[in-house]
Amino acid sequence: MERYFPAIRGNHKLCKRLADEIAEGRFPHAYILAGNPGSGKRTLALHIAAALACKSRAALPCGVCDSCQKILGGFSPDVIFVRKDADKKEFTVNLIRQIKDSLYIAPNELEKRVYILEDAETMNANAQNAFLKMLEEPPAYVVFLLLCSNPENLLETVKSRAPILYTEKLPAEELQSFLLEHSPRAREMATSDPQKLQAITVAADGSIGLAMSLCEESDKHAALQQSVLDFLTAWTAPSLTDLDLFCDRLSGIGDGMTEFLETLKKALRDIAVSKFDTTPDLLFFSSLAEAEPIAARITVSKALKLSVAADNLIDKLKFYVDTRLASVTFCGDARRIMME
Ligand SMILES: [Zn+2]
Repeated sequence: MERYFPAIRGNHKLCKRLADEIAEGRFPHAYILAGNPGSGKRTLALHIAAALACKSRAALPCGVCDSCQKILGGFSPDVIFVRKDADKKEFTVNLIRQIKDSLYIAPNELEKRVYILEDAETMNANAQNAFLKMLEEPPAYVVFLLLCSNPENLLETVKSRAPILYTEKLPAEELQSFLLEHSPRAREMATSDPQKLQAITVAADGSIGLAMSLCEESDKHAALQQSVLDFLTAWTAPSLTDLDLFCDRLSGIGDGMTEFLETLKKALRDIAVSKFDTTPDLLFFSSLAEAEPIAARITVSKALKLSVAADNLIDKLKFYVDTRLASVTFCGDARRIMME
């Protein structure tokens, strides 16, 4: 096989193994695909299903034949995702019963029927025992792919019948090239703020899902960082007139007030530690040099007092939702602490 799983990033050894097993007709009837959330398990499972059905030998799966298009587009009646309701903690026996209902009906269009069980580690004991019965003697056309983050939670008897394959973390360079290909926001950042893109790639720690959501949230995140910086600049300015202007702006922040206060606490913590440590791990500022101009204008005691005031307000916001009153209270506290 010249080209196997051409659309899957990383995981080269794993993909080679899967492609060989499929090409040689010795793919087992069940696998557990284990890996961190966002590591691409669902995508890999879908591509395995396509590879099992693909008729072309140009690549496995080719991605363009009828079977591939149907499966990868999510339209095949023979590839069935089984997942618990979002509000449920456990994957219950009812879901296993649903699988059983269709288990002995031959596939519609393909030679195989693939069941993809998401969050399989959340199957409770009843569900696992019921599933085990199907796993012991499945019809020849059935393939089960169990996706999970923690295969340790599965019964030994399940694991003994479904070998575990671990997906690998995507190396940083491959993750970044994926982002540049798939996220318009990442492409924008590559020219406007390459350092930010680099930071997202590092923070995502090999997870495509996490990297994508960090890219999407980056605008919101940048706005929040700026609000906190603007507040600190107004609060530490020689005259406190800008603080009143900020108070108006803060009252319009609505639901974002708690997030603002949490972020401000991180900045205040950075300022406090920067007074004692020359190489601290920073939570808000990207470098000590960035924190320095603000840190130079306040004492540790004032930073800590404002942090306590922020904490008190976060507690109150759990019960009161009047952000206008909250922002007036907070700016009043900030003024009092600065004037002390
Ligand atoms: Zn194909």
